Amino acid sequence: MSGKKLRQRSCIACRRLATRTELIRTVLIGNEIKVDLTHRMGGRGAWLHANCLKVATERRSFNHALKFEGEIKTDELDNYLKTLGN
Ligand SMILES: [Zn+2]
Repeated sequence: MSGKKLRQRSCIACRRLATRTELIRTVLIGNEIKVDLTHRMGGRGAWLHANCLKVATERRSFNHALKFEGEIKTDELDNYLKTLGN
């Protein structure tokens, strides 16, 4: 048995558990969502599936997950996901 436990996170949009490699870590800087590819950025992070951004936006999942009131910009995440082919 491998002693290494897979750390799981839940997607802020669909709430399903997934391993960190299945999710994208994002961090809120000011009111902008930044993509944290190295998982090393400070601040409150929100994890989500690449194909859950639409749901996250509709449900204001970023606001809930990050306890932020007001408009959150997701342009950078949007652009990043486009480069992935979503
Ligand atoms: Zn999801």
